[in-house]
Amino acid sequence: MDELLSRLPKTELHVHLEGTISPETLWKMAEVNHVALPVGSLAELRRLYDFKSFDHFIELWLLMCSCLRSDSDFDRMVDGYLAECERHAIRYAELHFTPYNHERLGIGGRRSLEIVTRRFEEAERAGGPVARLIVDIPSEAADESGPYTVRLLEEEANPLVVALGLGGPEAGFPRSRFAAWFARARQAGYPVVAHAGETGGASHVREAVLELGARRIQHGVRAAEDPAVLALLAERSICCDVAVTSNLRLKVVPELSAHPLRRLLDAGVPVTLSTDDPPFFGTDLTGEWELARDRLGLSLAELWELNLNGLRYGLAETGVRRRLFRELERSATAAGIRVARATEEA
Ligand SMILES: [Zn+2]
Repeated sequence: MDELLSRLPKTELHVHLEGTISPETLWKMAEVNHVALPVGSLAELRRLYDFKSFDHFIELWLLMCSCLRSDSDFDRMVDGYLAECERHAIRYAELHFTPYNHERLGIGGRRSLEIVTRRFEEAERAGGPVARLIVDIPSEAADESGPYTVRLLEEEANPLVVALGLGGPEAGFPRSRFAAWFARARQAGYPVVAHAGETGGASHVREAVLELGARRIQHGVRAAEDPAVLALLAERSICCDVAVTSNLRLKVVPELSAHPLRRLLDAGVPVTLSTDDPPFFGTDLTGEWELARDRLGLSLAELWELNLNGLRYGLAETGVRRRLFRELERSATAAGIRVARATEEA
């Protein structure tokens, strides 16, 4: 691991809390909760993480959600991510979380949100990273998950929840199908973001912006297939939360050299770098930075701009983002990184 990159304080806006569970933790949870896994050993479970398609990925995802059965499972999941923050100096994160799955498979959506919130609040009070939550509608169960999730948000005033999001597969689920629920969430005072332009094309990105009112797009890389969509993102300053290794593993791009990160930047689209589901893709945030620098040709100054975008386009309270801006500024100065616009925004 690159020593300088690993110790620089980082932000990431696109990581799924349930997608941070390692095979080892999942194995333990299944054992304690007597959930039958379709594998006979930890080694086999590790091999299952080496999936072949997006559908296979979603299958493993749901299996994992079904292993989260008790309060302590949720605590363990949060603690796992906090340890990851410690290892990679992650200071600000927006975590996608899907209460609907826990309503259907586990301890209840509202309860799961309460436990996760309490754990992250304790960590923040103790000087740990600042975590905020994006509550996702999983697209694959649209008719039930949409109304459930929006009602939950309308009834809650959770201090960590900063947005409604849209996760799950894109194929067969045009983003416009979710417009009514997104309108309700906006009416209730929530900013909204959406996955688009990953397994679906540039038209999904356009729909997410124009019909859902998305402030940011998770992935969005296939916007590069349509110059008009790239222009739309740039004009409206819609940030794409890119996860390079995830794109490679799920075959959104055939190889690293074909990744459109540079094309997004050249078109003036704001971008952040994230891990998406780190153990699923065998990656971590320092690794994503290394990949962008060593294989996609980003300079350290460019990487740092992407890092600051996590605060510029992040949805935490302004005072919190300003405090973190200052913290990052001090680290950049100490590391000799030229800071272009750190204090101008937020
Ligand atoms: Zn994602």
